[in-house]
Amino acid sequence: MRIDIATLFPEMCEAILSESIIGRARKKGSVEIHCHQIRDYTTDKHRRVDDIPYGGGMGMVMQADPIFNCYNAICEQLAARPHTIYMTPKGRVLTQQRAVELSQCDTSLLLLCGHYEGVDQRILDRIVDEEISIGDYVLTGGELPACVLTDAIARMCDGVLSSDECFRNESHFDGLLEHPHYTRPEVWQGEAVPPVLLSGHHKNIADWRLRMSLEETQKKRPDMYKLYMENAQKDK
Ligand code: SAM
Repeated sequence: MRIDIATLFPEMCEAILSESIIGRARKKGSVEIHCHQIRDYTTDKHRRVDDIPYGGGMGMVMQADPIFNCYNAICEQLAARPHTIYMTPKGRVLTQQRAVELSQCDTSLLLLCGHYEGVDQRILDRIVDEEISIGDYVLTGGELPACVLTDAIARMCDGVLSSDECFRNESHFDGLLEHPHYTRPEVWQGEAVPPVLLSGHHKNIADWRLRMSLEETQKKRPDMYKLYMENAQKDK
């Protein structure tokens, strides 16, 4: 899978996406991530990429032209049109389900990061296929949202984690939150690990984990629990 990120702060994205599991996956070639500096595509002699908003008001707006030039250069590199996503608080809020779908996308992805007040609407109308938000709050720029989306997608690509089981059993994948985890020591400050986890009995461990997963979801996310139970009822 290839993900391109168009941003005014590529170093921010590089810093995050060069570390840990995603950084190693990039080195191995399991995912390809390219961060592009939109400013490199301005024709303004002062390298400006933004201007004041028509109609007045606070802040600056990113101009259409540098983004369009950057987009065209990426299309040329790919010899194709990428599925283009604008990171914005106005977008559909990211879910695990959408991250799964995007990880299986057969075209490459381009994530466009806004900054300041946002981006000239005309370029969004021209190139954007989808708008994604990472939550109902406003950040200073689209760089952290683009990194969040890239991480959520990339960790499900082949060869990034040791097996699909690593993400299939996790919270949100099947509509539940995951069961709790324990590791050594067996007793920590007087608190023992649940005995079933030491039993070596796979079926009992799986049953305990499902029970805990249901309890955890019911307690922490009653909305998810209700939906899960309704779907389970329909499947019967
Ligand atoms: N004026 C815009 C509004 O009210 O919708 C907010 C602009 S915000 C300060 C600057 C940029 O940060 C946005 O263009 C977007 O790319 C990014 N951004 C901020 N919050 C975000 C969120 N929750 N999800 C995704 N991107 C976000």
